[in-house]
Amino acid sequence: MQYLDMEKIEHIGIAVNSVAQAGSVYEKLLGTKVYKTEEVVSEGVLTAFLQCGPNKIELLQALNDDSPIAKFLSKKGEGMHHIAFEVTDIRAEMARLKGEGFVLLNEEPKQGADNKLVCFVHPKGVNGVLVELCESKDYPIKAQTHSLNIDEQINLFQFRNKLIMPDDLISYFNLSNDEIDAYNLDMFTFYKFDEFKSVQEEVGDFGGVPDYRNIINVLPEHENCFVFAEYSIHLMVFAIRLYKGLSNHNEVYAICGSKYELVANNFTEFLQLYNDDINNVFVV
Ligand code: ZN
Repeated sequence: MQYLDMEKIEHIGIAVNSVAQAGSVYEKLLGTKVYKTEEVVSEGVLTAFLQCGPNKIELLQALNDDSPIAKFLSKKGEGMHHIAFEVTDIRAEMARLKGEGFVLLNEEPKQGADNKLVCFVHPKGVNGVLVELCESKDYPIKAQTHSLNIDEQINLFQFRNKLIMPDDLISYFNLSNDEIDAYNLDMFTFYKFDEFKSVQEEVGDFGGVPDYRNIINVLPEHENCFVFAEYSIHLMVFAIRLYKGLSNHNEVYAICGSKYELVANNFTEFLQLYNDDINNVFVV
C-alpha cells in the first residue's frame, strides 16, 4: 500500500437552487459569514464558501442548464453533492487512485474554485459519493488570508449587501484600484473600493463639524447609500444609492451634516458634472 496523500476533508460541496438563499441559511447555521463567492465559468457554477473550523462548506448553484449542478438538482434536488479531500500532489494522487481501480472524471487536473486544481472521482466506484481531490495552489495559506481581487471583492460586496452595483461604478473602482490618485484633485478625494462604505458606517458617528449623526434619520433607506468620495475631510461626502436589482438610475447625493441634495441620477452623470466644474456637485 502506498502512502495515502489525502490530508483532510477540505470542503463539503452542497448543491443549492440559490447561493444567496442558502448562503443566509448556512451563515445562521454555522454562525459565520460567507467569506467569498466565485463563478467557475468552465463548470457553469456560482460558488459561495463558509469556513467551519479547519473545513469549508462550498455552496454550488447552477449558472446554466448544462452545468453538472443543474443535472444533479433536477435528478436529486438540493443536498450534499461531493466531499473534497485536500492533497499536496494531485497528479501523484490521481495516478495512485487510477492504479487502485477508481474511475477519474477528468484525466488532467482542472482549475476549480478557490484557486485550486481539482479532479473528480466517479461516485459509482466510491459507494455513491462523488469525491473531489483538490490541491491548493496557494497552500498552505488559509482562506481568511486569501486576498481577493477587485472583482471578487465586488461580488462579495453585492452578495453580502444583496445590492447590485452599476457597471459605471464597477469600471471606476477597477480603474481607481490601479491608478491611485487618478481622480484626486485639491481637497476632493475619491475612494478606492475598500473605503466604499454605507453612509452610516462612513459618517453616521461623525459628530464634528458638520454633525452627521442625524443623516440616517433624514435620508430614506440610507442603508442602500454608499459613500464614494469626500470633500475636505468630511466637510461634504458623496453617496450613491444602490438597488436590489439592475436599475436605470442610481442617485448620487451630496451630503453635508444632516442635509442632503440630489446632484446626479447616476455615477457617469456625476463624473461629467464634476469634470465640467467641481462646484456643480456641491450642496448650496
Ligand atoms: Zn468542491
